[in-house]
Amino acid sequence: MSCPARALIDGHARRVTYLRVSVTDRCDLRCVYCMSEAMSFLPKRDLLTLEELDRLCSAFVDRGVRKIRLTGGEPLVRRDVRALIGGLSRHLASGRLDEITLTTNGTLLSRHAQALADHGVRRVNVSLDTLDPDRYRAITRWGALDQVLDGLAAARAAGLAVKLNAVALAGVNEDEIERLVRFAHGEGMDITLIEVMPLGDVGVAREDQFLSLETVRARLAERLTLTPIADRTGGPARYVRVAETGGRLGFITPMSHNFCESCNRVRVTCTGMLYTCLGHEEGRDLRRALRGSEGDGLLHAAIDDAVANKPKGHDFDLSRAGPPMLARHMSVTGG
Ligand code: SAM
Ligand code: SF4
Repeated sequence: MSCPARALIDGHARRVTYLRVSVTDRCDLRCVYCMSEAMSFLPKRDLLTLEELDRLCSAFVDRGVRKIRLTGGEPLVRRDVRALIGGLSRHLASGRLDEITLTTNGTLLSRHAQALADHGVRRVNVSLDTLDPDRYRAITRWGALDQVLDGLAAARAAGLAVKLNAVALAGVNEDEIERLVRFAHGEGMDITLIEVMPLGDVGVAREDQFLSLETVRARLAERLTLTPIADRTGGPARYVRVAETGGRLGFITPMSHNFCESCNRVRVTCTGMLYTCLGHEEGRDLRRALRGSEGDGLLHAAIDDAVANKPKGHDFDLSRAGPPMLARHMSVTGG
């Protein structure tokens, strides 16, 4: 139902049309900026079931959400994720939803790419911070780069458009950013660079990982011609066209505030907590609403309440000493 009376409009006149859902907190990797080595995962009973995920996503579609991104943790390690996408694809078929997409580390993509395409997925984001196998293993703590490269090939064979996401890490991959950009564009993929965000305790100091994309961009601009382009997704990415490659390069600078005014998105964790801003602790428990009644009245009331109170902007601050700003890990909230 996209009737305006039911649309989700927050207290700052922003319309919510984009839902990100973490389908699991589990992952087959342990990226150093995302998880600690000894992560403990949530009990299965705390996670939303397949049916609850479908109900929840469908409720948002009823309220005018046009795009759903599944994330995690690693969405492809959840066994029933294909069934979830298969079910949600009915909203694509009916025209009420424009897009179902995923953010994945790509390790299992070679197994799933064709099925995703068959269910109407057209694009995926694949996270890849390096093209060096040893470095890849170090960043992910044990991952094998080849699996991701195979996944990228499978995605292409299945006709999926791929955007690479690379986190810029001080002293880790900063010498490789240009190579990543050239690789992505050479393979016909967009690439977006991301600044590290202070989410969850990962056992190392955030300030040591943080590399400003302003610095990265200035360095790239010494070697490449970057022309800003107007493409906006309602999210934090700002894009340039790289003249030498013809490709598109995005910069996600979550630590800056330049995107909050056009924010169109909300996030639901794998346990059903709805967060209307990545940078705020306050959430609404949609699992309780889902489990509290068979009808969707409680669910819509909780969604309405959350959206009405969507914060104007986030308040990350890396310079603050002490524990990470937000206790929840990215893998729980979903990137
Ligand atoms: N496992 C999938 C993946 O890696 O693409 C999906 C979940 S992951 C949490 C989503 C994105 O968040 C990835 O691109 C990852 O690099 C990014 N990410 C994780 N922790 C981050 C952090 N602390 N700061 C910035 N980006 C982060
Ligand atoms: Fe897993 Fe993605 Fe986090 Fe890496 S960034 S540990 S792949 S959830």
